Amino acid sequence: METFFWLLGSTYKKYCSLAPSGKPEPSWECKAAGDRKRSHYCLSVSPMVEEECGHSPQKNPTRHVPLDSAQGLTKGLKEKELTPKRLQILLVGRTGSGKSATGNSILGRQVFESRISARPVTMTFQKGSRQWTEKELEVIDTPDILSSQDKPEVAAEICSVLASPGPHVVLLVIQVGRYTAEDQQAARRLQEIFGKGILAYTILVFTRKEDLDEGSLEEYIQENSNKSLDDLDVACERRHCGFNNRAQEDEQKAQLKDLMEKIEMILWENEGHCYSIKPPNVPSKV
Ligand code: GDP
Ligand code: MG
Repeated sequence: METFFWLLGSTYKKYCSLAPSGKPEPSWECKAAGDRKRSHYCLSVSPMVEEECGHSPQKNPTRHVPLDSAQGLTKGLKEKELTPKRLQILLVGRTGSGKSATGNSILGRQVFESRISARPVTMTFQKGSRQWTEKELEVIDTPDILSSQDKPEVAAEICSVLASPGPHVVLLVIQVGRYTAEDQQAARRLQEIFGKGILAYTILVFTRKEDLDEGSLEEYIQENSNKSLDDLDVACERRHCGFNNRAQEDEQKAQLKDLMEKIEMILWENEGHCYSIKPPNVPSKV
């Protein structure tokens, strides 16, 4: 049984909510309103921690993943018992990039509200989960923390609570199309909030993959007129994948499988540890 209680951030004044699941969810409590005056932050109590966390990326210099196969990676991880059973997947990106839709694609059902709007649709942090092979995937949808003017520490604190003990992977959701100065700023903000080590845990997820027609995602990234997209991709060690969130079942399965292979790589690289969120004041890589 897991219990969360919340002291709501006075800056955000946002409530957490837990999305309904297809199977009985662990119980979560949101006590935001009653505790609102007591503190600026959400606090967590006794989250289920199955694996050691608090891993510092600096202590684990980047190694090269053998390019054999995801199967080999998974096998290697299993041998070392480094595959966490519960994966925390944090979705971030600009409003309208398709975070909620991607979350729904991963969960295989409509959990998060996703629609086109001139105003942000997702105003709260939300969580949904599903079983995928032997793992439980916990997907955390976020409001637009990357273009907010709030202090980075506020978003970092809330995310560290929601994804406690820390996310295993961050999906930076970007819409296929023009990669603008605002997108660049969002990538910088990601590192301001979580620290630049977060890029070792980040996968770029490009939504509206169907707009690429026959062109490959690699071509799109590398031939984009904005060189900083390629720089960001390099900083994320070329971990990227495309999602058509309006795809039918078979394509949805294939794109989830592709994503999970990239996640396995991150787990291998980071020895199964999640990212411990400590926002430092360091310049961003890109
Ligand atoms: P968020 O603000 O980042 O959570 O974005 P949403 O998930 O609410 O998506 C914004 C709009 O983009 C919605 O109308 C979605 O249906 C649409 N959308 C998201 N992903 C895709 C995609 O892969 N293909 C298409 N055609 N539309 C998408
Ligand atoms: Mg949303």
